[in-house]
Amino acid sequence: MKNKNVLITGAAGFLGSHLCDRFINEGFHVIGMDNFITGDIKNISHLIDHSNFKFIEHDVTEFVSIEGCLDYILHFASPASPIDYLKIPIQTLKVGSLGTHNLLGLAKAKNARILIASTSEVYGDPLVHPQTEDYYGNVNTIGPRGVYDEAKRFQESITMAYHRFHGLETRIVRIFNTYGPRMRLNDGRVIPAFMGQALRGEDLTVFGDGLQTRSFCYVDDQVEGIFNLLFSDYALPVNIGNPNEITIKDFAEEIIKLIGTNQKVIYKDLPIDDPMQRQPDISLAKKLLNWEPYVNRREGLLKTYTYFKSLSTEELYRSEHKNFSKNIKR
Ligand code: NAD
Ligand code: UDP
Repeated sequence: MKNKNVLITGAAGFLGSHLCDRFINEGFHVIGMDNFITGDIKNISHLIDHSNFKFIEHDVTEFVSIEGCLDYILHFASPASPIDYLKIPIQTLKVGSLGTHNLLGLAKAKNARILIASTSEVYGDPLVHPQTEDYYGNVNTIGPRGVYDEAKRFQESITMAYHRFHGLETRIVRIFNTYGPRMRLNDGRVIPAFMGQALRGEDLTVFGDGLQTRSFCYVDDQVEGIFNLLFSDYALPVNIGNPNEITIKDFAEEIIKLIGTNQKVIYKDLPIDDPMQRQPDISLAKKLLNWEPYVNRREGLLKTYTYFKSLSTEELYRSEHKNFSKNIKR
């Protein structure tokens, strides 16, 4: 794979930055692209002086231009946390639609293979459990989460259209809740939320009755699955996640035990359209990619907690991402 060029959008985000690391370690020339709307330069600061890494600050909803050859594109730019995409709904719709269109156009112009980051949210509040790739989903188009879910569903549709109509080499990963170091402590997703609360000595906020379920995948497993999918010859969507499912209530207790704090769990309103259950069926990924997750939750959570503990007091108490204060209305 030496001397192959890969463009990774969303490079300054959680998953994008781990993907940059993986591709650099495999000997690729990596171009990272990001507009920092939810990401942070510190996630890739260790790569900035690397001879195989180049960073371009750019909003992918605007025309994307890259000089020279490109072999692969991984499109990971998009707000990913419910509170992020509720704060920036229009950008969320644009990055999934216009942004994906730009990157598919770039892939076609460069004759590059493109992998797009889709999500378990395409299944909405699923009526099929665990979720298999052939389930069409149960999404409220006009609910608050619709901006993310529908952008991702459109993203899958336009990707398949480029594949079928233009013969473009495309890959679609449906990512289920993934966590690890470099998540933003204040992004509102449940693991940073609970760990931030524990570190600040606050009670852990469970939404609703806490009987809704999620299945959490450690970032190293996710990156491995994505890497294998890119180099497979399968164009239809593939679930990548960890099937180990837990209720959010039990999860809060698990975090309290793991960290060894004596905080309480308190209950708050369940956000609108919060899915009641989520567990990936990963039979396809096992068969096709010979992939399955191997990091258990305890090990993954401890690594993540170590990361959050190392953050500055300013980061621990920051209530929102610095770019949200710019009052962006596009
Ligand atoms: P993240 O917020 O940490 O990273 C997203 C990155 O995209 C940020 O650095 C942000 O600044 C950048 N970005 C957003 N809009 C952009 C634009 N218009 N132009 C350029 N850059 C832009 O989120 P993440 O968890 O790393 O998620 C990455 C991708 O994976 C997203 O597409 C998300 O939908 C998908 N995904 C993640 C999860 C998960 O559990 N982490 C689950 C399902 C899907
Ligand atoms: N959640 C919670 N307390 C929090 C943050 C989240 O109980 O402080 C719940 C949330 O309602 C959801 C689950 O945890 O049921 C996972 O939420 P997250 O935002 O991490 O991801 P998603 O809903 O997109 O799976």
